[in-house]
Amino acid sequence: MRKPRLMTPGPAMVPEEVLLELARPVIHHRSEEAKQVLVEVAEGLKRVFQTKNDVLILTSSGTGAMEAAVVNVVPPGGKAIVLNAGHFAARWVAICKAHGIEAVSLDTEWGQAVDPAQVAEALKQHPDAVAVFGTLSETSTGTGHPVKEIGEIVAKTDAVFVVDGISGVGAMECRQDDWKIDVLLAGSQKALMVPPGLAFVSVGPKAWAKINAFDSPSFYFNLKAAGAKAKEFDTPYTPAHTLILALRAALRQINAEGIENVWKRHERMSDACTAGLRALGIEPFSARPAEGLTAFVVPAGVKDSQIRGKVLERFGVTLAGGQGKIKGKIVRLGHMGYADELDVVATLAALEAALSELGVAVEPGKGVAAAQRVLLAKN
Ligand SMILES: *Cc1c(COP(=O)(O)O)cnc(C)c1O
Repeated sequence: MRKPRLMTPGPAMVPEEVLLELARPVIHHRSEEAKQVLVEVAEGLKRVFQTKNDVLILTSSGTGAMEAAVVNVVPPGGKAIVLNAGHFAARWVAICKAHGIEAVSLDTEWGQAVDPAQVAEALKQHPDAVAVFGTLSETSTGTGHPVKEIGEIVAKTDAVFVVDGISGVGAMECRQDDWKIDVLLAGSQKALMVPPGLAFVSVGPKAWAKINAFDSPSFYFNLKAAGAKAKEFDTPYTPAHTLILALRAALRQINAEGIENVWKRHERMSDACTAGLRALGIEPFSARPAEGLTAFVVPAGVKDSQIRGKVLERFGVTLAGGQGKIKGKIVRLGHMGYADELDVVATLAALEAALSELGVAVEPGKGVAAAQRVLLAKN
């Protein structure tokens, strides 16, 4: 038997109670029943995002929310600053380009965190920038960026701060309103414990002012339309309602645990994972690890595909490889959403076995012991 463990940074594992919702009969999306689901989900999302905003639900993957943010906030021909520190941040540049928006790319070495002082400097140099596009958790490098500090800086300017929280929201501390994030995005398949297919856009008052100032050249992803409907607990077009039922079940679980406890659980998993890897002589890739995943450098003498192949074949554990220019150099271990401390311990045990079998000098049990020490100390 191979028990599947999807330890990837999206899609991530989904609890049974959430999966069961997917088997329910389809209901009509304009029914009172469907509206009541949206009423409950709206409340739950606000708590997860730590916001008073209406959190808009789009039927798309996370990238749809990114495109919606770009095309609704920045007029064609406008300028934006992109905090470019990885594969997903680079997508902001590509989306801007596709829509005729000038993207000033503020490049940070992959694996490093964005320096808030550089953001302040870029805003001084480009006072005409309409938006700053950043990332909470850069999933390609496993890095958490100092969004709170950057939020303070952007708030002092006329620009709006748009944050891709697709793999961060629900995994690491993020308080949209307190941290002055004008637009915050998430995706269903990362820490929110739902299958792929839904994306979320939470828009604050400063961003609404920009959005309302021009007619966005978008139709399906028009946030004015989505915002107006959200006021009535509705959506402009047929939503993936079955996924919204699943979302309701997932949000009930998150609320039962409490969002602050959810963040703490991820912090414990992140610390334990890093300690376990270090004890095996494996280096984390990021200088400032995000809490929903741990990226590590592939040890000398083996290929990332061999490690991933071995843990999958032998133990049913799925890990992710590197993307873009660090493909083959790192392995990414996701521990977000429906993952607990024992999933991390089990994955470390699988890694120890796989590396030993591949001839890497590791002492089985050493990583697990180090992880356990962190978990016990933190309780
Ligand atoms: C997964 C992810 C995306 C892309 O989401 P899709 O659902 O694949 O479109 C964007 N940004 C970050 C940080 C992500 O982790």
